[in-house]
Amino acid sequence: MSHSEHIVIVGGGLAGATTAIELRKRGHAGQITLISSEEHLPYERPPLSKDFLQGKSAVKDFTVREEEYYTEHDITLQRGVTVTGLDRAERVVRLSDGTSLGYDQLVLATGARPNTGGSAPIEGAQLPGVHLLRSIEDSQALRENLGEGSTLAIVGSGWIGMEVAASATQLGAKVTVITPDAIPLAAVLGERFGEHLLKIHRAQGVDFKLQTKVRSIHADHGELLVDTDAEPIRADHVLLAIGAVPNTELAAAAGIQTDSGIVVDASLRSSDSNVLAIGDVAQAFNTTLRRQLRVEHWDNAARQGALAASTLTGGDDEYDWYPYFFTDQFDVGMEFVGQAEAGDEAEFRGGEDEFIVFYLREGVIRAAMNVNLWDVNDTLRGLIGRSIEPERLRDPQIDLESL
Ligand SMILES: Cc1cc2nc3c(=O)[nH]c(=O)nc-3n(C[C@H](O)[C@H](O)[C@H](O)COP(=O)(O)OP(=O)(O)OC[C@H]3O[C@@H](n4cnc5c(N)ncnc54)[C@H](O)[C@@H]3O)c2cc1C
Repeated sequence: MSHSEHIVIVGGGLAGATTAIELRKRGHAGQITLISSEEHLPYERPPLSKDFLQGKSAVKDFTVREEEYYTEHDITLQRGVTVTGLDRAERVVRLSDGTSLGYDQLVLATGARPNTGGSAPIEGAQLPGVHLLRSIEDSQALRENLGEGSTLAIVGSGWIGMEVAASATQLGAKVTVITPDAIPLAAVLGERFGEHLLKIHRAQGVDFKLQTKVRSIHADHGELLVDTDAEPIRADHVLLAIGAVPNTELAAAAGIQTDSGIVVDASLRSSDSNVLAIGDVAQAFNTTLRRQLRVEHWDNAARQGALAASTLTGGDDEYDWYPYFFTDQFDVGMEFVGQAEAGDEAEFRGGEDEFIVFYLREGVIRAAMNVNLWDVNDTLRGLIGRSIEPERLRDPQIDLESL
């Protein structure tokens, strides 16, 4: 691989920006072009449902790098431009401004977009007052409408739904979460922790309509009426938080293999070896878990961004780490590492408010989560794959490190 190659990165989120930054750190001397549909400098999204939504942080606080960084490192940023087509034979991308750009190596970091119901879109999803949350503008639009006395119905009790429920409540809004789940997030975190979160949200005033499906949304006398398979819910605003859809279309149209994401190997190369995919859009082969995985988390975007730079500069690193994510809701902050599944045994260690949960299958630790306890996640990561008696895991007298 030549260090003078032109590397074009499509998508200016955390993954794409990290690739550009790491390429320069690794001494790539060729041209780097980062193309992003958004006008903003590349930024991190977690604050959009947390402190930024609550008005406690500014865009500069979660901007990956200031503009000068890109200039100083000779990284060409094309903002507000979308890549509309990819000609793999000619190694050229077509842009929404009518121009084309040749590449030697291409990195697809196109991320994901909010789900609005897919092939069966929720009727009324386009109505004024119905929000999605992915961008700075989305978060600002939501915040402008949340305040003392406002009402917000959130459809979905995944990460974004639950985080916005907490943020909106803290802004003074009256929040109702409508979800088909019996216990929010139980499928990922287990029933006991899901119940714990539910209790905290309810204590703060969030109303939950559990095991309830939304049929449609209608405008009704200046309000929105969410029609469900139980009672209808009235609200000033509605947030659809029913998951994300990876932006695979560009790759698929160019004949690159896609599945639940763009399929890539452990070095993040796609079925076209000159095209890599990273971050939320990539379905990559994880060498530790020995299977394809698509992960929609901050840590994955940063790490795969760095891994792509390694691959592009001749490194032999692989996608070998356990997934990691974090969330903040009211006074609960947690970090999760590993890959748990419904049905795993959950072992709790610690008290009511500060504790660790280990997820085990057939006696082997598959994942762990620290709640309101910090600086232990690396230790927990090191315990994955080990068999430790549940009594020892539960016993706070036994030092974590000694496990
Ligand atoms: C509200 C919110 C809260 C979150 N909170 C957490 C959290 O607490 N913890 C956690 O671990 N993760 C969290 N995440 C997930 C995390 O932000 C994502 O995993 C991460 O943003 C993925 O980065 P990415 O670079 O792959 O994609 P993105 O950040 O989606 O960036 C992709 C970029 O590519 C652009 N693009 C797409 N198609 C094209 C094209 N054809 N041409 C040009 N540009 C294009 C898009 O406009 C976008 O700018 C959160 C996400 C959201 C939305």
